[in-house]
Amino acid sequence: MDKRLCLAAVLAVALAGCGRANTAAGVLEDAQEMMGNPNSIQFTATGMSAFFGQALTAGEAWPRRDMTSYTKAINYEQRSAREELNFAMPQFGGQQQNTQVNGDKAWNVGPNGPAPQLAAAEERQLHIWLTPHGFLKGAQAAGNATLTEGEGSNTVSFTALGKFKVDGTIDATNHVTRVETTIANPVLGDTPIVATYSDYMAYGDVMFPRRIQVEQGGFPLWDLTVTGVTPNAALDLPVPDNVQSATIPPVQTMVTAIAPGAWHITGGSHHSVLVEFADYLAVVEAPLNEERSMAVIAAAKKQVPNKPIRYLVTTHHHFDHSGGLRTYVNEGSTIVTHASNVPYFTKTVMMPATLMPDLQGKSPKQPTFEAVSDKYTITDGKQTLEVYATGGDTHTAEYTHAYLPGPRILIEADAWSPGPADAPPPPMPPPNAVTLYDEIQRLKLNVATIAPIHGRGAVPVAELRKVIGR
Ligand SMILES: [Zn+2]
Repeated sequence: MDKRLCLAAVLAVALAGCGRANTAAGVLEDAQEMMGNPNSIQFTATGMSAFFGQALTAGEAWPRRDMTSYTKAINYEQRSAREELNFAMPQFGGQQQNTQVNGDKAWNVGPNGPAPQLAAAEERQLHIWLTPHGFLKGAQAAGNATLTEGEGSNTVSFTALGKFKVDGTIDATNHVTRVETTIANPVLGDTPIVATYSDYMAYGDVMFPRRIQVEQGGFPLWDLTVTGVTPNAALDLPVPDNVQSATIPPVQTMVTAIAPGAWHITGGSHHSVLVEFADYLAVVEAPLNEERSMAVIAAAKKQVPNKPIRYLVTTHHHFDHSGGLRTYVNEGSTIVTHASNVPYFTKTVMMPATLMPDLQGKSPKQPTFEAVSDKYTITDGKQTLEVYATGGDTHTAEYTHAYLPGPRILIEADAWSPGPADAPPPPMPPPNAVTLYDEIQRLKLNVATIAPIHGRGAVPVAELRKVIGR
């Protein structure tokens, strides 16, 4: 049936007017007939991309980043996609992004060429099957799609990439209006992604939405107003050689003494600090995920056997810095964190994690918190670790800075990360580094050394002073 006749039939009579709508395969066929079936698609848009996991305050919306340009191209048959965007403001991790995926290989393209991002491939590929036409193709190819009939719309479900249940809503006019799934996240556990598509328009014989909104973890992640669509645009994304041969690097830890009873645990993108007390240990920072945390816990226990990790101190709530919290809760550690984070973490550490079960997902333990609103001290009389709550900066509205008053070592994250040893001072003092220095003065900390969570390692405080010109 001609799709306009079919549409008329749907509107005039009932969904069954198309004759084959009451099976998943029939609903998908009707939708594909209405929406067209391009092999590839390219579209441009304006709008915003929010920074997932990087809210200013825990529990608030992801910060919006307005874009000056956005282009996405997808080759459904090659299972490849390229997304290029420019942010209006340079903060939050750079001004440009060019992310690509082909099957199970992912990479970013920057000034130095393609950089492998293998761990991102699954999610990027999943996003192909969350687009309107990708959903229809994925559901058809899966061969196991099921239908749930609803009032004025149908929901078709299938399993993508062997584990992600994808539910797509197709309205009475045979347009895909909503596609949702659940992904694993180290902080949130099972994390919903909901894409909604509206304001459809014809581009040749392909229908494409003019409005695309995506929520992840309960807050807007993308809000796009589509400005141009090219169905069947040529896109061939061969996997670059250095990506093809890349492997995901193993998790490594390196343990360096920075003071009596204190060690910097480095070896990845985010460091931790281990502090030994008479009867127990404290770890500052639980970054990334459970895998990283297990490695840091193993390194801590190897360095200091037979003492429990009684405290885990966080610097701030951003997901790359708190992805190991659930692991430490399960370890039985008390979480020492800024008071503003406690309501949020109280929820997140108990959220179900069925898609990628971590220790908390398998056998949940109730958390214990120490909420820091001013100063919190962990001491056995000899070793002392002080934790100070601050008002944060443009990066986060809260930090807790940890301080070892004996050796005068400050542990901080993201406010300042030391660069190469011989780097000249920047032309302008980085505002957040200035704020950090001002906080050190306000708190009257006699800092000699900064042991950062990022950067090349512990450095004299003189390096921070040089960077900010004080
Ligand atoms: Zn951060």
